[in-house]
Amino acid sequence: MRTHDIRDLTILGGGPTGLFALFYAGMRGATAQVIDALPELGGQLTALYPEKYIFDVAGFPRVLAKDLVRNLTDQVAQFHQEAGIPAHLGQRVVALEEADGHFVLVTETDRFPTRAVIIAAGIGAFRARRLPQAGAAPWYGRGIQELVAHPDSYRDQDVVIIGGGDSAFDWCAQLRHRARSVTLVHRSDRFRAHAATVAEVQGAAAAGDGRVTVLTFHELDEVHGDERVTGIRVRDTKTKQTRDLPADVVLPMLGYVSDLGTLLAWGLDIEKDEIRVSSTMETGRPGIYAAGDITTYPGKLKLIAAGFSEAAIAVNQAVHWIYPEKKVAPGHSSNLAIFGQKDD
Ligand SMILES: Cc1cc2nc3c(=O)[nH]c(=O)nc-3n(C[C@H](O)[C@H](O)[C@H](O)COP(=O)(O)OP(=O)(O)OC[C@H]3O[C@@H](n4cnc5c(N)ncnc54)[C@H](O)[C@@H]3O)c2cc1C
Repeated sequence: MRTHDIRDLTILGGGPTGLFALFYAGMRGATAQVIDALPELGGQLTALYPEKYIFDVAGFPRVLAKDLVRNLTDQVAQFHQEAGIPAHLGQRVVALEEADGHFVLVTETDRFPTRAVIIAAGIGAFRARRLPQAGAAPWYGRGIQELVAHPDSYRDQDVVIIGGGDSAFDWCAQLRHRARSVTLVHRSDRFRAHAATVAEVQGAAAAGDGRVTVLTFHELDEVHGDERVTGIRVRDTKTKQTRDLPADVVLPMLGYVSDLGTLLAWGLDIEKDEIRVSSTMETGRPGIYAAGDITTYPGKLKLIAAGFSEAAIAVNQAVHWIYPEKKVAPGHSSNLAIFGQKDD
């Protein structure tokens, strides 16, 4: 187990709420870090709808979810120019301990000591939904990949993508210039993806050079291989006929399942799988605050805008709780010395 240096604040969850909390911690001069189970920052925006426009974030007439995440990380980065954003990704928090006057958030491999905790865990830790076919299970890690690696690692490979949503089409569009072939297998002809990306992939398939194939009304039947996957058999869901496809890599893009894990047993005020918070984002356990979709209170809105406000409240309260001499109210950013501004 690796034990990290203690931080003032550790933010559980790197969705929009957690990212804004990380920015706010920087603005308040607190040391902070984010832990997230996903390999990328952005929470639901990155995992579920990166290519969708959002219309109700203040100041943006419309913004693509992935662009909002990029702006949030840019906002955080101004405090971490040399060291990079303090984010520990691909780490699921499985326990909370308390000893010697501080907390420790524990993942499967690491321990993160912290003076206060902000839980911004949204709807829980995401995990890629696995292929339902029993025969697929032994091939995970041997050609079937749960997480997509760097696009260049698929150069000159035969890639099969299973699914019909945004991720399936986005990766098909990205990998078609690198892989030897990309085949998208989907069990119907209805797609849940951005129309422009669907059109791009279908256009590439229509070009007929064999690099992109879209197989609708097909599903995985069997996986073939020795040490690693070498091909798969797919079945036409209407005619029941099968055909074999070469495959070095299979990427199931079937969405995510989320799991609140042990969090509900941490001695917090819980109401129907959500954390009941006070108007100061307190959770019922001193030093632990919550913000964003994971919280509930009368009038709660599960919106990005609400998560931003709650993140600011939680961080300001936490900073004051750790350092009582520091005020709760942060002052106006437009006047703060940390941004090179002077009081007017
Ligand atoms: C399709 C869709 C469209 C939407 N459109 C809009 C919109 O137009 N406007 C709007 O305001 N809202 C919209 N929303 C809602 C919005 O995305 C959420 O309100 C927002 O993502 C909540 O942010 P969050 O940071 O609180 O939680 P999340 O975005 O859920 O992030 C929580 C993060 O915590 C991590 N996590 C949880 N548990 C653990 C753990 N134990 N260990 C490690 N990491 C953990 C998760 O992996 C995740 O990354 C939409 C949602 C969906 C699904």
